[in-house]
Amino acid sequence: MTDGEGRLAQPRDAFALLSHDLRLEILLALLSHWEAVDTEPQRYSELMRAVGMEDSGKFNYHLDRLRGVYLRKTDAGYVPTASATALYRAVLAHRPTATPDRTHLDPGVDCPRCGAGLAGVYEREFFSLRCGSCDSVVGEFTYPLPKNGLAERTDREVLEAVYDRAREHIGLARRGQCPDCGGTTTRTVEASAVTETEPPIHIDCDTCTWTVRTGFMLPFLTDARVLAALDAVGVAVEECFPWELPNPTATVTDTEPAEVDLVVTTSEGEVTITTDSDLSVQEIRTDCRASE
Ligand SMILES: [Zn+2]
Ligand SMILES: [Zn+2]
Repeated sequence: MTDGEGRLAQPRDAFALLSHDLRLEILLALLSHWEAVDTEPQRYSELMRAVGMEDSGKFNYHLDRLRGVYLRKTDAGYVPTASATALYRAVLAHRPTATPDRTHLDPGVDCPRCGAGLAGVYEREFFSLRCGSCDSVVGEFTYPLPKNGLAERTDREVLEAVYDRAREHIGLARRGQCPDCGGTTTRTVEASAVTETEPPIHIDCDTCTWTVRTGFMLPFLTDARVLAALDAVGVAVEECFPWELPNPTATVTDTEPAEVDLVVTTSEGEVTITTDSDLSVQEIRTDCRASE
C-alpha cells in the first residue's frame, strides 16, 4: 500500500457508509433538523417516518451502520455527530456541484509595481491578484476561498475576505494548529532563503494536506504584541493589504536552532521581532524616533 492509499483508508470507509440511499436519507433527515447545539434529537419513529420506511428490520440495520460515525443515540433520540455536521458544512462551503459564475473580479486596487488596475482571479477555489500589465502575482498572494465566500460580497469585499481569512489561518498555523483539521503543524524557516525571492516560511499540517509558503510578515499579524509595536511606528496593519506593509529585513542570528531577527523600519522608528525555528515570537523591541 502506498502512503496515499494508507491515508485514504479512513475516508474510504467513511464515504462508503453514505453510498446507500437509505443511509443517505437518514443522515439528511437528521441534518434537516440540525441547529448546532440547539438540535432537538429525533425519535426513532420520527426518523423512520421521515425516510418513509415501514420495514424496521432493514431500517435498524442501516441505522446501526451509521451509529457512532454519523449519528449517535441520546436518551431523547438521534442526533448527527460532529463528523456528519462537518461534512455537511464542507458541502455548504465548497458547493462541489456548483460552477462559480465569477472567475474574474475587479477589486479596484492598483498594482504596486506598475500602477495598472489589478484583476482578482478565482480558479479552482483559489483567489489571486494579478497584474495584466507587468505580469506579476501581487504579494505572491494566492489563497483558497470556498465558493460560498463569493456569495453576497462585492469584488472588493471578496479580496478583503480572502486576506482576512489568510491572515487568521496562517496566524493559527504558526501557533501550531491546522486551520482546516485542528491537527498539529510543522513550521520551517528556510534560513538560506532569507535573501532569496522564494517565500522563506513553510507551514504544513501533519495530518491533512493544508500547507502554506509565505513571507515573514503575514504569519505574525495575529500577534497582539506585533500589532502594537507596528502601530507605535506608524504601521496601521488593519488598514493595509499585505503587500502595502513595509517589507522587513530578515537577519539570521543563529542557525542551530534557527533564530531570525525581523526588522521593520519606518519614518517613525524601528521594530525588531525575534523569532525562533518554531516561529514563536521570542522578543519584540520597539525604537521610536523622538519627534522633533
Ligand atoms: Zn503591474
Ligand atoms: Zn490539517
